[in-house]
Amino acid sequence: MADPYGFMKYRRKEAANRPVPLRLLDFKDVHEHMADSDVEIQAARCMDCGVPFCHDGCPLGNIIPEWNDLVRRGRWEEAYNRLHATNNFPEFTGRICPAPCEGACVLGIEGIGAGAGIGEPVAIKTVELQIVEHAYEHGWVKPVTASFSTGQSVAVVGSGPAGLAAAQQLTRAGHRVTVFERDDRIGGLLRYGVPDYKLEARYIDRRIEQMEAEGTIFRTSISPSVSDLAGFDAVVMAVGATVPREVSFAGRELDGVHQAMDYLPQANRVVAGDIEEPEITARGKNVVIIGGGDTGTDCFGTALRQGAASVRQFDYNPAPGENRTAGNPWPVWPKIWRVATAHEEGEYTITGNESADEIAALGLASRAPGEPLGHRDFRINTVELTGEDGKVTGLHAAQCERTPDGMVNLPGTDVVMDADLVLLAVGFTGADQKGIVSELGLPVDARGRLVRDDNYRSWWPETPGIREAGFDAPVFSTGDAGRGASLIVWAIAEGRACAAEVDRVLMGETALPNPVAPSDAPLSV
Ligand SMILES: Cc1cc2nc3c(=O)[nH]c(=O)nc-3n(C[C@H](O)[C@H](O)[C@H](O)COP(=O)(O)OP(=O)(O)OC[C@H]3O[C@@H](n4cnc5c(N)ncnc54)[C@H](O)[C@@H]3O)c2cc1C
Ligand code: SF4
Repeated sequence: MADPYGFMKYRRKEAANRPVPLRLLDFKDVHEHMADSDVEIQAARCMDCGVPFCHDGCPLGNIIPEWNDLVRRGRWEEAYNRLHATNNFPEFTGRICPAPCEGACVLGIEGIGAGAGIGEPVAIKTVELQIVEHAYEHGWVKPVTASFSTGQSVAVVGSGPAGLAAAQQLTRAGHRVTVFERDDRIGGLLRYGVPDYKLEARYIDRRIEQMEAEGTIFRTSISPSVSDLAGFDAVVMAVGATVPREVSFAGRELDGVHQAMDYLPQANRVVAGDIEEPEITARGKNVVIIGGGDTGTDCFGTALRQGAASVRQFDYNPAPGENRTAGNPWPVWPKIWRVATAHEEGEYTITGNESADEIAALGLASRAPGEPLGHRDFRINTVELTGEDGKVTGLHAAQCERTPDGMVNLPGTDVVMDADLVLLAVGFTGADQKGIVSELGLPVDARGRLVRDDNYRSWWPETPGIREAGFDAPVFSTGDAGRGASLIVWAIAEGRACAAEVDRVLMGETALPNPVAPSDAPLSV
């Protein structure tokens, strides 16, 4: 039974962020550590509702009230076992999940419709992270080895969170699993994409060590061919949705205009020690990021750390309000004004008290006191890029408005600004169809997603295309590859569910959990 008065006694509290001038000097975790005793208080705010909407908010179906109650009582090891039963990688979600569970928490009800705030939901993600980190600290995270071998083998193509979750579940079920990854390291977007200040790579390495000890085999720097996959009893395609959307405005071809995903991985590689300086750097440049989503925001925080002369992020949507709208009631994900840690850094203004090191490292010398380090611009559309000698030097934009005929630029609102690095972060158009996807002739829908049935199957052995290729294993698709660009929590949930379907096909039955169907969608109205 939860503490029935906890939510009345205690206010919501999350881990503090490190001071901006300090954290901009490195790519280490932005957040400070929270004491167990503080997290126990946060867990005590959970009311253990009769109908816990947080379960439905979380695609993994994490049994949140149960681990909250265990943490409140200081029973951390039991809380860890409860959490781990539904989530393979709480150290990833506890750091970078946007926490739809919190949007659905009953403590978030402040009225449910237009004008309602988001209340003070339980700090679920904070508790989740502390549980798993506490478990690592106390040596409870050990390899979980299968007690028998099924004699069946599975190839997993792609090592992002979906592929890793599928691989871990299948290895633990007794199958021999090999993960093929075309990059030089395991982790997918967790490794090359998400900046280290959100998720340090050591957390991925630590989990891979566990998986290797459990028996999962990893092969990097290989984009497998049909013959590499021949001989496996099943294949799981977890190749992500990595093809970036393009833009069509004039000047796209100029030097200094790059896709976000050509820029961000280089910053990860600097942190990993592979290179000293990225080929594409924001240092000393006027940076404009086109796209107001998470990828753009990650470029924003990275450009600030590299010492950009100025950083702007464009979003063609209007700025969201402080409260929910009528079309966005509780318990669906609140579309409200949010300040990511990168945006908090952008709001920082120079005080004059910065150390010489900070001024040099952050390129602050060119900034006037009182001027924020970065700007977010809403309802703004790029009209064209201009350049000299083939290099981008400026950007021409206008205020815009969404109409039934699409986005239109408002006359007389044109602005021109300096820009010598332009980063495109306008979404993804699906899975990379080159290589194994087309070799196997896998079906792809109009949005570039691998088509699968209700059981995650994309192809069956009797399918002509694959048989002609000399290949006779069923092929399953999971994660962003099948769903389209989404979230880590969905990728893990899909990886787990897909593993259950693979196990069922190989063994005739399965005891593996199956948290989501391919057609499941976030809570919506
Ligand atoms: C910059 C950025 C920041 C993000 N931040 C967040 C966040 O803060 N929170 C959140 O929840 N989500 C975030 N996301 C989304 C999240 O990262 C993805 O939804 C998630 O990683 C999808 O997992 P996945 O395993 O399906 O695919 P991916 O992580 O994309 O992994 C696919 C893997 O397959 C490999 N691959 C592809 N083709 C082949 C092939 N032929 N052979 C071998 N390997 C292949 C790729 O190299 C890659 O490693 C972010 C995405 C981006 C781009
Ligand atoms: S994985 Fe995300 S949605 Fe699920 S409990 Fe954790 S923070 Fe909430």
